[in-house]
Amino acid sequence: MKNLTPPFENLILNFKLILLLVVAALVPTNTLQAQEPTGSSATKKTIVCSTTQIADFARNVVGDLWEVKCVLGEGQDPHNYRTNTNDSAAVAGADLCLENGWNLEGHDWMRTLAEGAGKPIKTCIEGVTPISVDDKGGQVKDPHAWMDANNAWIYVQNIRDAVTEMDPDNAAVYQARADLYRLQLNSLRIWIVKQVNRIPAERRILVSHHDAFEYFCKAYLFTAISPKGWTTDELTGMSPGKIPEIVQQIRQQGVKSVFIETSLNRELVDQIAREAGVEIGGELYSDAMGAAGTAGETYIGMMRENVLTIVEALKEE
Ligand SMILES: [Zn+2]
Repeated sequence: MKNLTPPFENLILNFKLILLLVVAALVPTNTLQAQEPTGSSATKKTIVCSTTQIADFARNVVGDLWEVKCVLGEGQDPHNYRTNTNDSAAVAGADLCLENGWNLEGHDWMRTLAEGAGKPIKTCIEGVTPISVDDKGGQVKDPHAWMDANNAWIYVQNIRDAVTEMDPDNAAVYQARADLYRLQLNSLRIWIVKQVNRIPAERRILVSHHDAFEYFCKAYLFTAISPKGWTTDELTGMSPGKIPEIVQQIRQQGVKSVFIETSLNRELVDQIAREAGVEIGGELYSDAMGAAGTAGETYIGMMRENVLTIVEALKEE
């Protein structure tokens, strides 16, 4: 009986509750938004990334603490990309820019954008052991390093360090997020090895449009063959004897299937397949991930889909 509220006090309590509800209803919505805590969209820092896979790595590290934007969309080729006024506007609003580096972004377009706007830029490929590739008689560092899941972890560490430097208060959160992603990358790597083991060693030959798969091939014991070399840059061109040379290689080595890249015109690979009399094994994500809502919309998703496509096309019947 002692615990029951007397009728008079109960009346006052109800009155206070009603008053609170009325006041809450009268407060304009924009006032409520203005009172949101730190980390809300109004106070978020912005990262602008060059490629889709770097944007995915960045999202995994920063979660909702930063806004992550990307210059390239799904299926876009970084080698030949020409920046526009929208890209300049995005970079003008950036707190940090992220590029792949080693000239994946043809003529250094991401660095040019960032430096033009006076914004800090981090090169995510820094720390990777490079594969050297031919370039007009010289040697350059192949920029497609994310194709090896071990290298993806180097990209993630560089991103973690860059955001931690700018926002040390959230260092533990960035570290925890990166730690989880590392576990996912390790699982991916183990899974890839298990999957590609279904393809006999002599059949592990990956023919595609350009050399986007050298790191993949080195890590997972394939040989890469492509007509275009390390870049798709139109100015780099292709020697006239290149296609007959590849057709001959395909025949000599008994290659069963060749692959189209989602970010590039399929004509060249179609021609090679026709002339060599082999099948198209499917489409691979190379320099760009898939559209939102597709199986290839994340880095882990694009690697998974690529491996499933490659294994299905090259495994023994
Ligand atoms: Zn490429």
